[in-house]
Amino acid sequence: MSAAPAGPTGAPGRRAAFRGLVDFHTHLHLYPDPAAEADAIAASGARCVAASVDVPSYLATLAAAAGRPAVVPTFGVHPARALSYAGRESELEPYLAASPLIGEIGLDHLWARDVPREAQRRVFERLAGRAAELGRYCVVHTKAAEAEVLETLRAVRASRVVIHWYSGPMGILGRMIDEGYYFTFGCSLRRWPMSRAAARRVPAERLLVETDNPVGEPWLGGSRTDIGLAERAVRDLARARGAAPEELRSQIRRNSMRIFRESGLA
Ligand SMILES: [Zn+2]
Repeated sequence: MSAAPAGPTGAPGRRAAFRGLVDFHTHLHLYPDPAAEADAIAASGARCVAASVDVPSYLATLAAAAGRPAVVPTFGVHPARALSYAGRESELEPYLAASPLIGEIGLDHLWARDVPREAQRRVFERLAGRAAELGRYCVVHTKAAEAEVLETLRAVRASRVVIHWYSGPMGILGRMIDEGYYFTFGCSLRRWPMSRAAARRVPAERLLVETDNPVGEPWLGGSRTDIGLAERAVRDLARARGAAPEELRSQIRRNSMRIFRESGLA
């Protein structure tokens, strides 16, 4: 697949014929050779939103994405990395300004328990707030902090939101759906009944797929770390929802491209 020329901001040029899927959550910087993986994603006909977790991972992601329009590098501070940036949020401004979407950001009260909640809250509030002011989508991690994430997003008036791998209470999921958020589903669909229940609840026009590569599937006991996991997620979603896979795939592609258009990427 021939790559469209990069636009002035590094955004892909027009590619009216894009028929592939967008992997809406991957961590390119965690591959041993991020540039080679970026090439593999482009060769597969897919595109990806490559989330960073701090400044060094963003710079590594940017380097891997250079000249590869299939990869959209995004800046974020993961809650597990928040302590390094709490109190220094203004230093993040140039990275936020350059990033077409903001992520990964959020709160984590389970796996990042060693990071004080106050530091997590402070960094998340600032980044989500700047995303809202800039009119950008943010990709949000919510582990065991779903109610507080929702409160914060509402408080800073962030409405362009993609919730990544939701695994919280169904009541809060319902409130997030009411807010108009998008949701990514991926590797857990075939293993967690909770993910399938959430996937049935989200309206079709808010569904996205993710791989959370290269850590998602191995963390669940699998071994794959390839972009094909995005197509597998579509099939698993279709099975969970009792939907026709081809129809659902088209819908997910349209949803992804809507966000890309609104982000100046398509
Ligand atoms: Zn992630």
